[in-house]
Amino acid sequence: MNSKLILTDTHTHLYSEEFQNDRTEMIERAIEAGVSRFFVPSIDSSYTKKMYDLETQFPENIFLMMGLHPCYVKPESYQQELAHVEKSLAAKKFYAVGEIGIDLFWDKTTLQIQQEAFRFQIQLAKKHKLAINIHCREAFDEVFEVLESEKSPELFGIFHCFTGDFEQAKHAIDLGMKLGIGGVATFKNGKIDQFLNEIDLKHIVLETDSPYLAPVPFRGKRNESSYTKLVAEKLAQIYNLPIEEIARITTENSKQVFGI
Ligand SMILES: [Zn+2]
Repeated sequence: MNSKLILTDTHTHLYSEEFQNDRTEMIERAIEAGVSRFFVPSIDSSYTKKMYDLETQFPENIFLMMGLHPCYVKPESYQQELAHVEKSLAAKKFYAVGEIGIDLFWDKTTLQIQQEAFRFQIQLAKKHKLAINIHCREAFDEVFEVLESEKSPELFGIFHCFTGDFEQAKHAIDLGMKLGIGGVATFKNGKIDQFLNEIDLKHIVLETDSPYLAPVPFRGKRNESSYTKLVAEKLAQIYNLPIEEIARITTENSKQVFGI
């Protein structure tokens, strides 16, 4: 029995099409595994209605973020999308602005508007006193450049799916961020497991990024929030602590960030 575990999945795309056949069962399975808190990042306006429906279905467990994902920053639509983010944040309670950031893996041509969208949304987070949830892929320098220029006591949040090195980890923490650790920590070539024990656990939160990046032994398959427990088990090994302690501390850290 895992009834004592209180795990928090700080980044899970519960509305994804991948879950269309078993969404409710999948969420209930996670709750059964001890994952009682789900933080759901936004991608673009096409998913907003689905997110609201999920929040209505599981009001005690599901907490929403609002933001425009960097891969969805397109010249023809990003201004309209950012207006949707701004309007939504003013209309109801969200727990973070995300996921936002820069992705140069999929598209380098939009770098300039990605930077603009990232900065604009950081400013929205500050205005609403919310955390940010950062997506960074092949863009550490570019992300740090924006964060440095926006650095302030009001800037805080999570570096989601952190995959950087030790120096980048320290830099992110110095900028007010916690590190979102997920399935990559369980990969043989994931690298972050090699220095993570040098990072104080108070800077770490757990996530799955479901349906992507499933941890070992499900690597390559569909990810789901119940696997947060596998990430917690890996951290228990890395930090040489009982899994209950990992769950307790990382959930506390998530409360600090999201305010709930
Ligand atoms: Zn994501």
